[in-house]
Amino acid sequence: MTVIESVVPAEAAERKMPPGVLVEGPVVDAKFRDSYISFVIMIGGSIAALVWAFWQGIGWVEVSVFAGTFALSTVGIGFMHRYFVHRSFRCGPVMRTLFAAIATMAVQGSILKWVSNHRRHHLHSDKPGDVHSPYYDGDGNPYVTFAKGMMHAQGGWVWDQATTDAEYYAKDILADPIAMFFTRTRWYWYALSAVIIPGAIGYAFGGVHTMTGCILFSGLFRSYLMTMATSLVNSVCHSDGRYGYRRFDLDDGTTNEFVTTILTFGEGLHNNHHRFPRDAYISHAWYEIDINGLIILGLGKLGLVQDIFSAGSRTLRSGDPDGGKRPVADTEAMV
Ligand SMILES: [Zn+2]
Ligand SMILES: [Zn+2]
Repeated sequence: MTVIESVVPAEAAERKMPPGVLVEGPVVDAKFRDSYISFVIMIGGSIAALVWAFWQGIGWVEVSVFAGTFALSTVGIGFMHRYFVHRSFRCGPVMRTLFAAIATMAVQGSILKWVSNHRRHHLHSDKPGDVHSPYYDGDGNPYVTFAKGMMHAQGGWVWDQATTDAEYYAKDILADPIAMFFTRTRWYWYALSAVIIPGAIGYAFGGVHTMTGCILFSGLFRSYLMTMATSLVNSVCHSDGRYGYRRFDLDDGTTNEFVTTILTFGEGLHNNHHRFPRDAYISHAWYEIDINGLIILGLGKLGLVQDIFSAGSRTLRSGDPDGGKRPVADTEAMV
């Protein structure tokens, strides 16, 4: 036994991925298949969109559809994050269906995949095992240069072999028939968002020419740009204060950053968010503009969502010596 143990280098043993990470098998294959298909279509469409914009020009219809669908997708990712991942409020099946639809239509992967990845990210934030850290690669090795780490956090992580196990991180999603319906039918929702809806609006307002511009510019190019905007949260907002500022001195590189906060409707207040992961409204000052949080508070006032988790809810939690004001791992905070 001693002999067998001694042949495993200590360094390799340290780099072993934490539980809940798969490095081979059908789940890993399916992840690569999904990533290749969606990125080839989005990047191919984006190049075609830019060529079309210079060659044919784009008008107010294309720009309006771009802005409208970008905003709707951004709100969709807000619900993906604050409802499906962190359970910062409760709602009935009708609202859950609506949130699941617009979250999936952001074309950032299925609810099951997004939720699993994000919970692993919080549990191992900027440590080996994080899904998309600027400091460690997918195998848990530290980055030598900050620039390389930033590229990994901004998009390179999608091509890592390491894949999050939904059975470990997202049992609640696996048990939710609504979330799983949208997970299974994700490609239809991607098509609706990136092709069919922009195309139909374009055709209605300007025939085949505007339809083509809308599909390329307001559908495919918008999906890609929107994904890149969300990814700023993984890179810029984990830059350890190189960009933006840190309100709370946490054991990770999380940062609040203004431009990302505007582009993502509040998700860029990421240092605040890692400090209090379950809060529905993550602004801590008048200049921290959290549009997604305000939308949730507004839906609460209308009675469409319930039990919104807030700073007040934290102090009511029993059993926490500091009133719950400590970083809580999502797997613990979500139930
Ligand atoms: Zn983070
Ligand atoms: Zn989060």
